[in-house]
Amino acid sequence: MAQLNKKSVDDLNVKGKRVLLRCDFNVPMKDGKITNDNRIRAALPTIQKLLADGGRVILCSHLGKPKNGPAPEFSLAPVAVRLSELLGQPVTFAADDEVVGANARAAVAAMKDGDAVLLENTRFRKEETKNIEAFSKDLASICDVYVNDAFGSAHRAHCSTTGVAEFVKESAVGYLMEKEIRFLGNAVEDPERPFVAILGGAKVADKLGVISNLLEKCDTLIIGGGMAYTFLKAKGYETGISLVDPEQIGYCGEMLEKAAKLGKKLLLPADVVAAKAFPDPIDGPVETAVFAADAIPADEMGLDIGPETIRIFSEELRSAKTVVWNGPMGVFENPVLAKGTKEVAAVLAEIDAVTVIGGGDSAAAVMSLGYADKMTHISTGGGASLEFLEGKELPGVAAVQDK
Ligand code: ATP
Repeated sequence: MAQLNKKSVDDLNVKGKRVLLRCDFNVPMKDGKITNDNRIRAALPTIQKLLADGGRVILCSHLGKPKNGPAPEFSLAPVAVRLSELLGQPVTFAADDEVVGANARAAVAAMKDGDAVLLENTRFRKEETKNIEAFSKDLASICDVYVNDAFGSAHRAHCSTTGVAEFVKESAVGYLMEKEIRFLGNAVEDPERPFVAILGGAKVADKLGVISNLLEKCDTLIIGGGMAYTFLKAKGYETGISLVDPEQIGYCGEMLEKAAKLGKKLLLPADVVAAKAFPDPIDGPVETAVFAADAIPADEMGLDIGPETIRIFSEELRSAKTVVWNGPMGVFENPVLAKGTKEVAAVLAEIDAVTVIGGGDSAAAVMSLGYADKMTHISTGGGASLEFLEGKELPGVAAVQDK
């Protein structure tokens, strides 16, 4: 078991104390309405535990990327409403452009044990993303204990995820953070073997560290999606007009050598579904043809893995005991090019293995296909799970006190 040597909410006695709880309430919104409340639901166990123990729970989070400070479309007000419904108790929204200004301080001062207050979007303060002390100190000034449960933001060193911990006497991680790290950590550090990692998505450059680290940890590394073409190029294949990053061809070559040296299997597409142009709009009509990976015509672009590749990848996955997956196998936004991603998801749903999905597009694909409850764990944080898979320590976790 991967051990997280950090204080947890179970190690705290919060009765009568003001607990600042950093959550990830960065939910998708349309016209002021929350379109998916998964992240709010994922935060409930920690909130409920702290409230049940008689804590005065001051919730905070960022939402989106407000560039010019406070703006109504980035307000967390709708989250307070949804949270009240889910918790079955009122959550006071502390509307306050300074986040910790007079209004927020008054709301906190009026709290009783077991009450909940939600602060305004932490990014309304320009110091937040720069981790500037003034805002960290403001946050610290209204609490006795700090708990970080925002896994989706744990890879960022911001005031509310990292800076504040320095100015609060006691700090801990929440249940969601613990769960994410337990599943991702065990999968990578102590996997039941064979351990197969699948990487996809558009760009190799985004995942350099992940490729290298996973190659060391896994038995087989499967590469699909747009990033596969830079690998195919490194093997000397003609890739037509497929997405290739010329600056990373050398790196991909090194990874192919590294795999050979370590005796690891590195599987690339054997065939591809290609088109003469990227569909525009992305989900618009597209005419496709299948080519062997070493015979892509000069005027074609690979946009999904082909049927032979689906067969090879599926066979490899069927004998796996641990699978970590990040990134789609093709342009899954288009129904004609979603087959590779769908088939991989279907196999993962079927096999008897620990299956961990690393956030973002792959998580969305698995959920929209209705396989969510067939997976061992779907991470709530795309960027954070990637950095974790790279083997990096997450600043939001590092800042919390050790046990
Ligand atoms: P995750 O969100 O699971 O971490 P990701 O978001 O990091 O994955 P990205 O690098 O953002 O993955 O890539 C996802 C995008 O890659 C999708 O929009 C998809 O359309 C695109 N994509 C996949 N395969 C190809 C391809 N062959 N050519 C061009 N784009 C591709």
